Amino acid sequence: MTVRLALVGLGKIARDQHIPAIAKTPGIELVAIASRNAALEGVAHFDSLDALLGSDVAVDAVALCTPPQVRRAQAALALSAGKHVLLEKPPGATVAELTPLVAAAAAGGHTLFATWHSRFAPAVEPARAFLAGRTLRAVTIEWKEDVRVWHPGQSWIWEPGGLGVFDPGINALSILTRILPHPVFVTGAELAFPSNCAAPIAAEIDFADAGGLPVRAELDFLQTGPQTWDIRVETDAGLLTLSSGGARLSLDGAPLVEAPEAEYAGIYKHFVELIGSGASDVDLAPLQLVADAFLLGRRREVAAFVE
Ligand code: NAP
Repeated sequence: MTVRLALVGLGKIARDQHIPAIAKTPGIELVAIASRNAALEGVAHFDSLDALLGSDVAVDAVALCTPPQVRRAQAALALSAGKHVLLEKPPGATVAELTPLVAAAAAGGHTLFATWHSRFAPAVEPARAFLAGRTLRAVTIEWKEDVRVWHPGQSWIWEPGGLGVFDPGINALSILTRILPHPVFVTGAELAFPSNCAAPIAAEIDFADAGGLPVRAELDFLQTGPQTWDIRVETDAGLLTLSSGGARLSLDGAPLVEAPEAEYAGIYKHFVELIGSGASDVDLAPLQLVADAFLLGRRREVAAFVE
């Protein structure tokens, strides 16, 4: 049976990725949009999720493409109306707000899928397989992009719960927590907050695993020119480099994987499978690491951010 899906929040990611990926995925179709500002020709439109759920348009699932600060309430509403729910990353503005959502999905027999799009990048699973059983010596993450290019006009990103530079940085952490053989935890952090923002614009975070593996992440939201989304792992078999946000993998400079981007196709395929099998998929490890960086991080004030 085809899953009838509604998109909530018709912003950048809904347009750039969700709509094309849904169109290409067997077993799911877009039947409605809930958006305060925009509509899509040929698709039923509602001003809010509330109005959509109260309508006679039949919907099985909703994909929440709104900012994290408003997502918990929308997810709770959709689950209480008996819908399956897909959450854009990060899954929420806090870690603990996910607990009642997971419980509601389980109690109602519905799917809750907290997506991590970077985990569907083509080199991530090969990297995980390569690292299993190896001796790891050190990990460095460089995740540096230009906020003005990738998040134009998105004021929510600078508000409490918007995560600032951790909005892209959590993508790196979603890969890290997938590919490493053992869990890591935060041991220290330095967070740079613009004087007019409630979220950091740059961060340096140190992590370790129980065996003492050193992991360092450098996040920057003001990188112009070439953008950097790289993870390097020093291993007993050489230097493994996962670059371009997880699209490429090399060992000591020799390519192992170079494949076209297909992250959102992977997300929707997995969502259809989860619904079909009555399962949920909620991994909060990346969000927990961000929360811990905020808990432990030393903060310094830097120049105001002007769009
Ligand atoms: P965006 O362009 O600002 O779009 C978010 C949309 O949510 C808005 O267009 C608006 O849609 C709705 N919205 C905004 N504020 C709202 C509020 N207070 N209450 C209800 N609805 C509200 O942001 P985006 O880049 O699409 O990001 C959305 C989520 O996707 C974020 O969590 C982000 O981390 C994630 N994401 C973004 C990217 C990216 O490259 N931009 C990549 C992957 C994941 P309507 O006007 O239609 O109501």
